[in-house]
Order: sequence, then structure tokens, then C-alpha cells
Amino acid sequence: MDALPSISEELYEPLKSWFSLAGEKPYRFRQLTDWYFKRPEVKSFQELANFPKALREKLERNFSFLSLSLEEAKPSPDGSQKQTLLLRDGFVTETVTMPMEGHYTVCLSTQVGCPVGCRFCFSGRHGLKRNLTAGEMADSLRCSLPPSGSESLNLVIMGMGEPFYNYKALKAFLNICKDGFGIGSRRVTVSTVGVLPGIERFAADFPQMNLAVSLHAPREELRRQLIPRAPSEIKELLPVLKKYFAATKRLVTFEYAMIKDVNDGVKEAKELCGLLSGFDCKVNLIPLNDVPGGEFKPSAKENLERFVNYLRERDMNVTVRRSLGGTVGGACGQLADKRNN
Ligand code: SAH
Ligand code: SF4
Repeated sequence: MDALPSISEELYEPLKSWFSLAGEKPYRFRQLTDWYFKRPEVKSFQELANFPKALREKLERNFSFLSLSLEEAKPSPDGSQKQTLLLRDGFVTETVTMPMEGHYTVCLSTQVGCPVGCRFCFSGRHGLKRNLTAGEMADSLRCSLPPSGSESLNLVIMGMGEPFYNYKALKAFLNICKDGFGIGSRRVTVSTVGVLPGIERFAADFPQMNLAVSLHAPREELRRQLIPRAPSEIKELLPVLKKYFAATKRLVTFEYAMIKDVNDGVKEAKELCGLLSGFDCKVNLIPLNDVPGGEFKPSAKENLERFVNYLRERDMNVTVRRSLGGTVGGACGQLADKRNN
């Protein structure tokens, strides 16, 4: 295991001070961050062509270039690609890069495993192993950039883990996305299962980013069945989201996995309309993805259509998520390498 800190873990001040303490010119710090943010194909200090050999070697003695290594990039026939990234302690994090109309979307993880353990999600099957650091998140994004780089890139924090249970690192990482990778706030979406203090802090820290909330059921008892360790009750969650909207003017997206004969009936569609009536928001229905040993099945096509139509007829803003990455285990809820068990 490499004990040296990676440059991503030392952004920005510690790295900047290292250059000054090492007696190096301040512009070298800027050059190094340019290599890091603008040249994702570069994976070692030896490749820094405009650095003298002595400085490259000094950097090598003090830092590792990355906190993780790209073990595999697996393309799916639908054009998406799943990256498997090996962390220094042997755990694994995964990302998915998806081509969309006119842009790419990268989906990132924030934890190894997840403590919430939703019954339909593979990522939480073995509990939480550990949080990712901000540097590991930055490196996982760097290793997942599409050929066009970070330009016109959408970032969704919807991989493994509950982002708001790792808020400090998430915040540092989102700042690196803005200031380093140059990703516009409006292009970033964070998905939470409803961690209320996290939602409040996110509204204050990143009022221009987007928030998605995993709801999955319109009533408490059914939601608890699906998410036994849900961090909040629906009746506490909605007022916090209404305050979020009032403060940020950003529409909240409710994610709702469509599960056969569990939450996909007209009864639930009606309850969902009632619950969200008067709240300007979006609903994103996610056809359930298969997970190993999964106890649920995806809704039948007719039920999905009936649900969508019921909501649309009542003027709700509803979309159905196109599932990408399924054949390589990269779709929602499927991320979980067996080395994390
Ligand atoms: N932990 C956060 C973010 C990661 S999960 C959260 O739960 O919001 C991203 C989305 O994928 C969530 O809405 C989650 O409920 C959904 N998901 C999980 N497992 C799924 C599955 N098997 N099929 C479809 N969607 C799933
Ligand atoms: Fe965790 Fe989200 Fe999966 Fe639930 S759906 S187990 S909160 S990653």
C-alpha cells in the first residue's frame, strides 16, 4: 500500500504550501494543477514534460500522482462504460460514463458500500465499508472523463453510497468540481435518500446545484418496507424540501423505482399525486434494475405506462429514466464489486 498522499488529497492549500516550502516557484503549483485537471490521460509525475527531472523525482518522493488506479473500463453495447477503480486499501469504487444527447453524464460514488441498505439496491447489501475521500472522488471523476473532457459534462452523484452521510468530503469534492474541473453548478445533481441536515447544508453551500431525493413510495409504511433504515419520515422530509425550493428555486426531483406489484398501482399513483400536490417538483420513475439475488421484479410495461399517464393527466412533471449500463452491472443499484463484501 502506497502511504504517500495523492495530489488530489492535498488540493489546494497543502499542495501550494509544499511548493513554497520546497523552494519551488509558485507557478509550478499552477502547472501541476493544469496537468491534473486538463490532461486526464497523464497518470504519473514522469509524464510532466515541462517539469525538470529533479522536481519530478522530488514530487514522486512526496506524493503519489493518483489515490487509485483504473483497473478496468468495461464498455456496454448501449455506449456507456463502467470503470472499476482500485483504491489503495484494496477496496473498489465504480463509476459509469454515459453518452447522452449532446453531452456525457458521469455517475460517481461517495462511499464504499452504503449503511442504508435499501432492499432493492445491491450497493448497500453488505453495509458501509468506509467513506471515500474528496481526493478519491476527484480521481475517480478524472479517470471517468469522456473523450471531450470535463466540457459539457453532467455529473450525477448517484453511485454507491449516501452522499450526505459523507458531507464534508462531498463538499470539498464539489468545490474541486467547480474550481478545478470547471463543471458548472447547474450540471451537477446529488441524490439522497433523505438526510435532512445534509439537504439543509447543501442548499446553503451549493444553491445552484440540483437535488434528487429517493422517495420510492407515497406513504410511510410502504417506504419503510423498502428502505428500513430511511433517515427521515416523509412527513419530515417534505417540509425540508419545500424550504429547500423556497431558498434555491431549484426544482427537486423525486426518484421512484418502479417495483412490480409493490409500489406501481393506481393506488400509489393517486397517493403520490396527493402527497406532491401544490409542490412544484419533478418525478423521475426508474424502471427497477435486476440485482443479484434480488427479491423484487421490475414493473410490467403496462403498469409503468399507466402510472406515467395517471401522473401526466394530473399535470405532474414526470419522466422515465433511460437505464444505461445494465449489461455491465453499471445501472442504478447494481454497483458493488465483490471485493467490498
Ligand atoms: N444513496 C443515494 C444515491 C445513490 S442511489 C440514494 O439512494 O438516493 C441512486 C438511485 O438509484 C436512487 O434513487 C436509488 O434508489 C436507485 N436505485 C437503487 N437500486 C436500484 C435498482 N435496483 N433499480 C433501480 N434503481 C435503483
Ligand atoms: Fe444506499 Fe442509495 Fe443504495 Fe439505498 S439506494 S442502499 S441509500 S446507495
